[in-house]
Amino acid sequence: MTPLKVNQDRLLKDIAELASFGGREDGGVDRVAGSAEDLAAREWLARRIQEAGLEASTDKTGNVFGRQEDSSGPFVLTGSHTDTVPAGGRLDGAYGVIAALEALRVLHENGHPAAAAVEIVSFWDEEGVASGGGLHGSTALCDSDHILDVAAFVELHIEQGPRMERKGLSLAVVEGIVGIDRYTVTVRGEANHAGTTPMDLRTDAGRVAARIVGDMHEMALGVDREMVVNVGVMEFHPGSPNVIPGEAQFVTELRAPTDELLVEAARQLEALCERHAGPEGCLATLERRSHKPVVEFDSDVLAVLSAACDRQPARVGHLSSYAGHDAGPMSAVVPTGMLFVPSSGGISHSPAECTPDALLVQGVQALLEALVDLERTFCRRPPASGRRR
Ligand SMILES: [Zn+2]
Repeated sequence: MTPLKVNQDRLLKDIAELASFGGREDGGVDRVAGSAEDLAAREWLARRIQEAGLEASTDKTGNVFGRQEDSSGPFVLTGSHTDTVPAGGRLDGAYGVIAALEALRVLHENGHPAAAAVEIVSFWDEEGVASGGGLHGSTALCDSDHILDVAAFVELHIEQGPRMERKGLSLAVVEGIVGIDRYTVTVRGEANHAGTTPMDLRTDAGRVAARIVGDMHEMALGVDREMVVNVGVMEFHPGSPNVIPGEAQFVTELRAPTDELLVEAARQLEALCERHAGPEGCLATLERRSHKPVVEFDSDVLAVLSAACDRQPARVGHLSSYAGHDAGPMSAVVPTGMLFVPSSGGISHSPAECTPDALLVQGVQALLEALVDLERTFCRRPPASGRRR
């Protein structure tokens, strides 16, 4: 059998054509889920699927699927999302969908037996711009009967960060998605007149909160070089220039590739709170607002993805995703893995989002070869017993 090869021109042309739906003058894309542009893009995708001689369908959530006519599961499902953030880029999500279409087209044209066991998807509303939360289509699929036909899922995506470029990688096997913990830190002091109270008699909650925040960067690096921390919200009460803050509150978000690191970071944050609040006569408390556990992808899927990547003339690495993806909810239900190509300058959710064409093509070639192996690994045996739904 002749080696399967991605049609580079067709792939790049389709990526460009999809970017015209909601396309902006600055090269970016406005295609928020549910907008006229999003719906038109989904219709276009269904047409492209049909033009390839494949069967297109849309479920009641709005997920668009493509497969060979008359094929039945179990399928290796692959794809991503076609909605964007406002003023987003042309590759986030869209790349993985067109990649899936191109891979299935190549299998189908070559009469490859794996074509009958590959299904492609464009998920509904991954970004959650209007609806909040996001990951709507993939979460709905996991709750539907359709998922019973899915034996494995793989998502190809741009990295959306600078880690691959920094390491000189052109292809990466994504081993999981970082866990995300959010905490509210509340510091209580004593409100008083900002002018008449001498500096040595203040119980300033604002000062203590600022000191804690100021130390959090080093604290995170001390826990682990792979850990990230952010404080994006901070409030002083009562919030007046002539009143010493009686209370200060901020929200911090911690992301790390293991749950152990998240626990250790929370422990160190608590210690930081005590260290700064105590001597100032303040009280600082920590409350966890939300917890998204670490996602670990399936080791069998990752082994297949790894082998497919190693066959490419690429520098291949292994890393965690610091952004959420549809592969997250999918991995709770079916064996799942992801592949990344680099994002130039680490820029994403921006019109400046870019990946060199050659790397886009190489990523799809790796996906194509992986699909053949995933079909062999996952579609020729009955679904594992005790599979969660
Ligand atoms: Zn995305």
